[in-house]
Amino acid sequence: MAQGESDNENDKKKRLAIMGGTFDPIHYGHLVAAEAARDQFRLDRVVFVPSGVPPHKKAYPVTEPRHRYLMTVLAVASNPFFEVSRVEIDRPGFSYAVDTVAEFRRVYGTGNQLYFITGADAILEILTWKKVDKLMGLCEFIAATRPGYHLQLDATLEKFPPEARGRIHFMEVPALAISSTDIRRRVREGRPVKYLLPETVEQYILKNKLYAEEG
Ligand code: NAP
Repeated sequence: MAQGESDNENDKKKRLAIMGGTFDPIHYGHLVAAEAARDQFRLDRVVFVPSGVPPHKKAYPVTEPRHRYLMTVLAVASNPFFEVSRVEIDRPGFSYAVDTVAEFRRVYGTGNQLYFITGADAILEILTWKKVDKLMGLCEFIAATRPGYHLQLDATLEKFPPEARGRIHFMEVPALAISSTDIRRRVREGRPVKYLLPETVEQYILKNKLYAEEG
């Protein structure tokens, strides 16, 4: 039985996940994490949602949404279970997860099983997110992490209310040793990024001269 599944009733439900992230740029760590979640949680579909304006200030200038969106489209093109949504990049203002999940609930109905997948570091901050109580009631969470972080994660999760703890599932993904920060630095320094992200995304980065500046 897949994780997060409790009875036969769940078998009739569609199982959909929102893959949330800045994706600046998207890389194989993200793609492997989404595919691992699809397998472990028996998902019918994973919808990648590049954030428009991330609500938490970043230490670097985030690349224009249209570039991050197009790189994500290129990266998922070969996977029939993956798609990309413009919902956050078309919505004015900050990209709050609660608005996105509520929009998916509105479009796909309440009868389906909905997950929000993202990095564990981001999920551990979830108690600070906008309308977290409403958000926790709308979906369950899959927190993707590198292997070996479990003790640290368990200690942080202890501080969460019990009802929230049961709705967060951790998933170890070795490919998450790849990071967008490292890729941006490599491009800036003219070092190779081959095998860290799809070739089409690498070509898009070079063609549009992304990550050439310090950031
Ligand atoms: P982040 O802080 O930039 O990323 C935290 C860590 O998670 C990084 O190591 C990052 O690696 C990794 N990561 C990010 N997205 C991932 C994914 N989909 N799968 C696996 N690893 C991932 O996080 P962020 O990108 O800004 O935000 C993540 C998601 O949380 C977004 O959907 C964002 O909208 C949401 N969020 C919502 C609120 C809110 O509603 N108030 C607040 C914060 C975040 P890379 O750098 O390699 O990607």
